[in-house]
Amino acid sequence: MVDYPGAIPMFVPADNVFPGYWGHIPIFVVIHKTAGFHTAQEVASFFQTAPDKRSAHFIVGMDGTIVQTVSLDAGAGANCCLEAGHAAFLPQGMNLNLLTISIEHVDPALDNSTPLTDAQKKASFALVKSICERHNIPMRKGDANGGIIGHCDIAPVNRAHCPGNYPWDELFAYLNSGGLEMIDLNTPGVANYFEDAGDGRWRCKHNGLVIFGGILKQHKIDNPPGSGETYMMHLYSGPGQDPRIDALTKQLADAQARISDLEAELAKLSPTPELAVDCINALKDLKPLVLKL
Ligand SMILES: [Zn+2]
Repeated sequence: MVDYPGAIPMFVPADNVFPGYWGHIPIFVVIHKTAGFHTAQEVASFFQTAPDKRSAHFIVGMDGTIVQTVSLDAGAGANCCLEAGHAAFLPQGMNLNLLTISIEHVDPALDNSTPLTDAQKKASFALVKSICERHNIPMRKGDANGGIIGHCDIAPVNRAHCPGNYPWDELFAYLNSGGLEMIDLNTPGVANYFEDAGDGRWRCKHNGLVIFGGILKQHKIDNPPGSGETYMMHLYSGPGQDPRIDALTKQLADAQARISDLEAELAKLSPTPELAVDCINALKDLKPLVLKL
């Protein structure tokens, strides 16, 4: 039984895992890359027969396939030993497999330098979010209270390139946005409107504006005519900012200055309080006279 919808079950033998995390509670998600292999299934087969009992809970393939090899109710064998120079917040003197949930990402390059594909990135981010929610793990960079870390935080010598170029900034942008959908150029029709601008950004083919991920559903807030389902909120500063924003900001400042001027004029014209009292009294005197008319 898999713990994540759509994951393919390819579990390692039961005696390769740490049942119930041996009474501990996992507080870290550890991101890995495979430095070899081409599919998630290949990596899972390797784990199933690895003599050193190594494993991870999930493997994310370059096509977005997710394979599960260890139940989330047990520790996997991915994060053995702390090495000199490890992240200072990690607890010493214990098997970190008892505190961690591991996700591998297929990368055929030995130095883990292949960028994640769009499908792989999307699958990875959603999986990380799901695990953090399931296990109450903080959705931020790891610290003494838990969070998301790289294998290199544990083993900076032998695993310095794990997870290599994993897109951390994009992951945290995604998690901070509440995990809304990113632009996926493979979604029918989307590529008619957007092209990849690199670095987790997309350029609108129509107006050349560049937008940045994780906020697809915001089009409901900022819904210009013709935006359709693929529209994302504009950037409000920096590259890609909508040029109309500067003009509107200036108009607003001018209007505010004009309001201040008018308020000052009005203050000059207003009667003094004494004068106002006199006027009211005079009106009261006039009222009976008016009624008589
Ligand atoms: Zn690793």
